Amino acid sequence: MSSDLKNQQEDQTSKEFEKWRISLSNLTGLGLTNEEKERIIMEKDWNKCEKWKKNLITNSPMITFLLDHLKKSGCEFNSTSIQCHPCPETKSGGFSIEHGILLCQNRFFNKKHLEDTLSHELIHAFDHCKFNLNWFNLRHHACSEIRAANLSGDCRWTREVKRGFYSFNKQHQACVKRRAILSVIANPSCESREMAEKAVNEVWESCFKDTRPFDEIY
Ligand SMILES: [Zn+2]
Repeated sequence: MSSDLKNQQEDQTSKEFEKWRISLSNLTGLGLTNEEKERIIMEKDWNKCEKWKKNLITNSPMITFLLDHLKKSGCEFNSTSIQCHPCPETKSGGFSIEHGILLCQNRFFNKKHLEDTLSHELIHAFDHCKFNLNWFNLRHHACSEIRAANLSGDCRWTREVKRGFYSFNKQHQACVKRRAILSVIANPSCESREMAEKAVNEVWESCFKDTRPFDEIY
């Protein structure tokens, strides 16, 4: 019994020591393994992403507007159906029928960027809810990507400057088209860039004009 107690005490002490070592290392960055560093970054990213997400769900006019329309259309989204996760460098968010909305916690420059990404994915969710899209059909997918890029703020000119595109002439439309094509290329049913371009061009006129649930681009 007493040796159990001693072991317990030792366990406790080593746990305390470990906690202390990690919190001290977090400040200095010294003595941490790469795995520990990664874990800390992941935790920080997740906390930040969750904090911004929760804040936007209640305070952003754009996000609350979209959530409201989703609810009215019978597809309610809440905080748990919008999840923060680490992602590879190629994307910042995603929408899936089974999993809901993904926010790539390690990909956001700032809260506004997360807001635009969340708006983009909520427009996909809205399209899916309202129009029963077939995501393997490239024209359906293209239409939703055009709308998401057009309406979400993805193509705000300040963001374009950050990406290195400086010509403002028809910049918004060019940005929407470019981003829609890139997203359609990632569709498993898309075999080439030409196929993606064709799908986007075919639905462009009607989908660029279709600003539901917004009356107009603001
Ligand atoms: Zn998209």
